[in-house]
Amino acid sequence: MLPRARQRRAEPRRSREALPPRPARFLSGCRRVGALRVEFSQPVNLEEVARINPEVKAGGRFAPKDCIALQKVAIIIPFRNREEHLKYWLYYLHPILQRQQLDYGVYVINQDGEEEFNRAKLLNIGFAEALKEYDYDCFVFSDVDLIPMDDRNTYKCYSQPRHLSVSMDKFGFRLPYNQYFGGVSALSKEQFTKINGFPNNYWGWGGEDDDIYNRLVFKGMGISRPDAVIGKCRMIRHSRDRKNEPNPERFDRIAHTRETMNSDGLNTLSYKVLRTDKYPLYTKITVDIGSPNS
Ligand code: BGC
Repeated sequence: MLPRARQRRAEPRRSREALPPRPARFLSGCRRVGALRVEFSQPVNLEEVARINPEVKAGGRFAPKDCIALQKVAIIIPFRNREEHLKYWLYYLHPILQRQQLDYGVYVINQDGEEEFNRAKLLNIGFAEALKEYDYDCFVFSDVDLIPMDDRNTYKCYSQPRHLSVSMDKFGFRLPYNQYFGGVSALSKEQFTKINGFPNNYWGWGGEDDDIYNRLVFKGMGISRPDAVIGKCRMIRHSRDRKNEPNPERFDRIAHTRETMNSDGLNTLSYKVLRTDKYPLYTKITVDIGSPNS
């Protein structure tokens, strides 16, 4: 046996820099909390939210400092006139996403003008615009009014498309139907391109999420989901938005996904970016998406 001092000297010297970065899950500063209290009674001040999230960089970007994140995730939020909801989303989600040690960016895709709202087209635009900025490999598509109630519900991608909002208070903490794919979902770049993205021609409320579900199934994929406890989330109550009436064409469109999915999607996406604003906690991209008959 070597004396203690000699033993220590005999060890090869390793410089700190030479060590490989630790995988995110071994970091201690990012321990998950589990179930979270989520409520919408107090108003949110965004300056204060930015102050308590100093690691979030301009445009709502974050990457863990001491490790390589497992995925690069773009979070895409379709948006129009919901500033108060967005504040709650930013207040709750930034701390959660940082604890999840993701390399992420938040993109709010704002529909300009007075035309009927088109959620799926805004999501397609978010996919295209986020990729112009960074080499994202995963896309989380989230409604602005949905907040997860458990930080173990990781906003990342899986081997199959992921449905994250599986247990919403609005539906009594269960799925409204088995094929439901609305609210918050995550698709890898490969999964998204395989289905030609989302449909561009669902104007008004409803059906586009069912179309997306059909696309995934027709391309041989299945849905992955967290369990009903980890997948709990709260929706901010609100009255129906102007210009987002239920779309009477949705039933007919859903019935024809198989025929339409190759000729409507990423390969036919057209829009115009009117402006891009980099705020401290998110990037807002305002777009002209045309109208149903254009
Ligand atoms: C609509 C979906 C909606 C779901 C739950 C369905 O009838 O087609 O778009 O997400 O109801 O509200």
